[in-house]
Amino acid sequence: MNLETRLQVIEGRILEACERSNRPRQSVMLLAVSKTKLASDILALAKLGQHAFGENYLQEAIEKITHLADSPECPSLTWHFIGPIQSNKTRPIAEYFDWVHSVDRLKIAQRLSDQRPRSKSPLNIFIQVNTSAEASKSGVAPDEALELANNLRNLPNVKLRGFMTIPSTGNQTEQLAKEFEICRQLLRQASKLDSDINMLSMGMSNDLDLAIEHGSTCIRVGTALFGERQ
Ligand SMILES: *Cc1c(COP(=O)(O)O)cnc(C)c1O
Repeated sequence: MNLETRLQVIEGRILEACERSNRPRQSVMLLAVSKTKLASDILALAKLGQHAFGENYLQEAIEKITHLADSPECPSLTWHFIGPIQSNKTRPIAEYFDWVHSVDRLKIAQRLSDQRPRSKSPLNIFIQVNTSAEASKSGVAPDEALELANNLRNLPNVKLRGFMTIPSTGNQTEQLAKEFEICRQLLRQASKLDSDINMLSMGMSNDLDLAIEHGSTCIRVGTALFGERQ
């Protein structure tokens, strides 16, 4: 399958999941996860109308972001950082990205806010929640997520938009649904603090349909769009 066909297949899955859950198509953002993929693949997808891209590895991402920003044929893109964040890497993240999905500590959010260039609008952030309670996973524990949300609200140059999760792998539908619902409940609570806290970053190539049925507003799709990663 080529890129255009894959994009159409995903679009069909999004539409069906939206229909099943009585949601408008515009309520779901497709984030194309382009880690390990070439700038030329990103450009090809951008020309098909896909403008939001997610990256995990900072050095690789910055090379692609600057290359495409200099390319006259590339439309303007929005960049989402979705990988684990080391505190000594926050400055380039705050400078190059528009969204960050993987904030799980106040210290990281403070650094992002301090280092966000004043010429840019506040950085949109998600709190990553460890919904599967696996020790190896990053993310804040669900019972600490609302406190973190509340503390983040005082930071001037980041804007909390919602919650993100990477669910456990190889699991049954019921277990995945349970993990998605943890984030959905957190959003119900946090949205009372601020109506701009209204997003859920959940769902990847294999489970985007289920995630949409459980309220996802941003699906992060790599393999199903670009093919297997090397
Ligand atoms: C790689 C990655 C994805 C994309 O996963 P696919 O299964 O390839 O769609 C989504 N979210 C995060 C955080 C990732 O690291």
